[in-house]
Amino acid sequence: MFASIAGRSVVVTGGTRGIGKGIARVFAQAGAQVLVSGRDEAAAQAAVESLAGLAGPVSFVLADVASPEDCERVAATALARHGGIDVLCANAGIFPDVPLARMTPQDLETVLATNVKGTIFAVQACLDALTASGHGRIILTSSITGPITGFPGWSHYGASKAAQLGFMRTAAVELAPRRITVNAVLPGNVATEGLADLGEEYRASMEASVPLGRLGEVDEIGYAALFFATDEASYVTGQALAVDGGQVLPESLAALTAMDAG
Ligand code: NAP
Repeated sequence: MFASIAGRSVVVTGGTRGIGKGIARVFAQAGAQVLVSGRDEAAAQAAVESLAGLAGPVSFVLADVASPEDCERVAATALARHGGIDVLCANAGIFPDVPLARMTPQDLETVLATNVKGTIFAVQACLDALTASGHGRIILTSSITGPITGFPGWSHYGASKAAQLGFMRTAAVELAPRRITVNAVLPGNVATEGLADLGEEYRASMEASVPLGRLGEVDEIGYAALFFATDEASYVTGQALAVDGGQVLPESLAALTAMDAG
């Protein structure tokens, strides 16, 4: 199963750490040729070194998804190195927190530029190559925050993650004649470098609110992305899959504390 990924050309934006690096690892383990992007060269170099020796090669290109020109360069690099693009994982994203009452226009612009415009620029840049592949796959990393849940300080972030799903639904319809599918993974709280920056207290409170009792691992998001990318998922488009250990399910704190009662 999922043998269709071997040899495929996969681009992962924001693949130099965290969830994107997990996605890159899962695809490379399945034999794909993976190109990851990010802005920090040292992080990119370290990611590529730690992902060496898998079934497929992983290389990097430095690029900011908020720049259409940079996104074009990512696509051109994938074409030059791998001869095409079969899969785009539009994953790069940021989650700075600020209360709505103190949010500046620049705070809002920064989050929307990376999370929303960056997603769309990456898709546009890869579109011709994905079309040429005949089985193009676009997988967005959205979030439970915004599409399903809310968290104080993340109104702009939640708006950006919900916007990705609005984009996905129309893109899925528009790109269907090109045989390109567009789907999204909605991670819950996943143990990444970015999440670690939020502090131990945040981590502990999140673990306590997940029915499966732990944060997610980056590879667990990668496996969901891998499914959407396979030939076996060719009839799935415009769908959002929450991968969250059941975090959005409990109706109340009582539901969580009563979990072991039976
Ligand atoms: P992370 O550990 O901070 O990693 C973010 C990655 O994106 C890095 O590779 C970073 O590299 C890259 N990136 C950030 N801004 C970029 C830009 N403007 N251009 C290009 N690359 C950029 O974050 P993460 O936790 O893995 O999050 C990844 C995605 O998952 C995001 O879309 C986030 O919203 C989503 N998500 C995460 C969680 C979670 O629990 N961690 C939950 C739900 C959704 P550079 O900084 O070097 O550019």
